[in-house]
Formats: sequence, C-alpha cells, structure tokens
Amino acid sequence: MSTESPVFYYADNHREFRYCPHCAAPLQKIRDGARWRPACTRCGFVQYLNPPLAATILLTRGDRVLLGRRTIEPRRGYWTLPGGYVELGESAEEAVVREAREELGVDVRIERLLGLHSGAPSAVAVALYEGTIVRGEPRPLDEVDAVGFFGPDELPEVAFWSTHWALELWQLSRRDRELRR
Ligand SMILES: [Zn+2]
Repeated sequence: MSTESPVFYYADNHREFRYCPHCAAPLQKIRDGARWRPACTRCGFVQYLNPPLAATILLTRGDRVLLGRRTIEPRRGYWTLPGGYVELGESAEEAVVREAREELGVDVRIERLLGLHSGAPSAVAVALYEGTIVRGEPRPLDEVDAVGFFGPDELPEVAFWSTHWALELWQLSRRDRELRR
C-alpha cells in the first residue's frame, strides 16, 4: 500500500465566498461560536463550510477487493472504491447503489455499514458499506478507465486518505473472519 502522505482535498464548496451568492453584496466575516464565517449584511446569508457526504462500497471476490482507476480530478489515475457524493434527497445507500451502476454497470446489494470516516485531513465524510454484486460483471463506464480485484499484497496506489482507511477496515474484518473460523 502507498506510504504517500495524505493531502487535504477541498471540495468546491470549501472556498469562501467573497460576494453573496443570493444578492451579490460583498460578504463580511462574522463570529459564530468558535468560527468566523462569511456573511451578508444585506440579506442575512451565512456561508457554512461543512463536509459533503460520500458513500463507498467494498465489493470482494474471494480474498480480493474491487477498485477502479479514476479519470477525474482530484487524484486522476489513482485507485479508489466504487462510490461518490450523496445527492440531496437521496440516502447514502441509494447513492452507493446508483454509483456502482453508473461507474461499473453492476447491481449491488448492501450487506452492512462498516464505518464512517470524517475529520482532518479529509474534507469529505465517507460512509463505507460492505456489499455483494448481484448482477453484472464490473467494467469501467463512468469516471473510471480500469477496474480490478486486488489482494491485500497487490494493492495499487490509492486516491484518498479515506481509501487507505477503508482498505485497512477491510483487512481487519478479513482477519476477524479468519479468527472466528
Ligand atoms: Zn446577500
């Protein structure tokens, strides 16, 4: 696994506005609890910088895990789990099922939530599910140009700190299962 140090990737919505997106007045910083936030003195808009939620899924075949190689920034060319951002009005489970279909052309069934990764150095909160492919053979369709199943000793360079975390959880749960046998 890569030993490269993690980088803090800001989402687009983590840039502070200088002008109000509603009324176009210049924003001023106001103190709100422990944070300073850009705020509009004309219409009352306040910009909150919150982590968006992404949902990802561990899909395994025997002793190997499914990864896809990204064709989009950030971290184009690096490998990650199937998944993506949760849309407003959609559950994290619905999002990960949709993303697996869009990216890889497979229908997946969710087995359980393995964990939630949040906080620095990640600017995104990531829900990690474990699941099973119930229909289709994974192939690169959207936002990935290669897919593969990788064993614990042959993992490629992964894209995000949360991908490292997810693969560590996967290995822990593998060892757990072996111990219980
Ligand atoms: Zn305004």
